[in-house]
Parts: sequence; structure tokens; C-alpha cells
Amino acid sequence: MNCLTALIVSVMSDFMPTLPYDADALEPVISKETIEYHYGKHLKTYADNLSKLTRGTALEGKSIEEIVVDAPEGAIYNNAGQVMNHQLYFLQFTPAPRISRPEGKLATLIVRDFGSFEELQKKMNEASTKLFGSGWVWLCLNDSARLEVDSYSNGDTPLRYGKLPVLGFDVWEHAYYLDYQNRRADHIGRLWEIIDWDEVTRRIE
Ligand code: MN
Repeated sequence: MNCLTALIVSVMSDFMPTLPYDADALEPVISKETIEYHYGKHLKTYADNLSKLTRGTALEGKSIEEIVVDAPEGAIYNNAGQVMNHQLYFLQFTPAPRISRPEGKLATLIVRDFGSFEELQKKMNEASTKLFGSGWVWLCLNDSARLEVDSYSNGDTPLRYGKLPVLGFDVWEHAYYLDYQNRRADHIGRLWEIIDWDEVTRRIE
């Protein structure tokens, strides 16, 4: 663990996930500088805001999943959605993937619902390019237990609509601008190299 990560963990709020890798470990796909800003500043701000906004309310002490479902529209839901989206986002990467594509149950569902893994990649890449402004593209499991790719604006999140988030791409400029400037498609295209498919598959089990 490097110094910055150690410092953040030591002062982190209830909602900060511990990164399972060092800040520079995902280079060159995601730079150390981007992790330091994205995890250390952007997510930290959402997490701190959520702690402050829920303190002394009926949501205090609830899990992030419960807060996302129950939060009133506005500042609490905006911050809660971003906390949940980013927790899942940062934990879905690894510097050394064991496998380069899904296996087992997730692979079976992808073939059933998209035809092939390549078709899923195409769908997520296209949705990420088309999303106007800031937001998220999620592979999620809907209430009929089928996989789908959905786009969400700003901090909106699948769980709010009864869908289980499985794999998410953050298309806010803060996720890629330091490394890729305006080339969002290049950034998204490279994320496939660092996905931890074991972690992603656990989300549907
Ligand atoms: Mn972000």
C-alpha cells in the first residue's frame, strides 16, 4: 500500500472501499494520477458528503444498498448513487486478471442474452460513447434474471430500479481526462484489459 492510499484509508469515512491494488498498479490503462484524483478526491468527496447528509437521519447506519433504494431524490441520492457506483467500479479491476474473459455462470448468461462476449463488449463500448454528458454504463441483471446494458445519467444507479449492477463503466470526464483527454472510447476500450472477472462473477452469485 502506498502512502496516499494508507493515508486515505486511515481517515476514510464509512463508505470508502479499500483498494485491493496500489494506486499505480493499473498503469498504463489507468494512471496513478487518475486513481489519486478519482478514488482519493472524487469518491472521497461523495463518501464524506453522504456521511454528513445521512448523520442523524433514518438512513444513518444503513448499508449503501439500503440507502440507494430508500434515499429521497436530490443530494442524498446523488451522493449515495455515486458512492455505490464507485465502490463497485474500483473493486472490479485488477492489475493481473486471472482470466481475460468471463467463465462459468456469467459466461453462460452473456451468451444467452447477447449471443457472445464480443457482442456484449460492442454494446457496452457503444453505449459508453453515445452517453451524452456524465454518467454510467452498466451491465446489470434485471428482475427477470436477464442481463442487459443500460445507460444512467450522472450518479444514477441500477439498484434504484431493482436491477443488480454487475460491471460498470464510469464515463464522467474525471475518470479518463488526465490520461486520455477527450478520447473516451480509447479509455473504455482499454478497461477490458484489467477486469477482475472473478470479482464480477461473484456479483451474480
Ligand atoms: Mn467517477
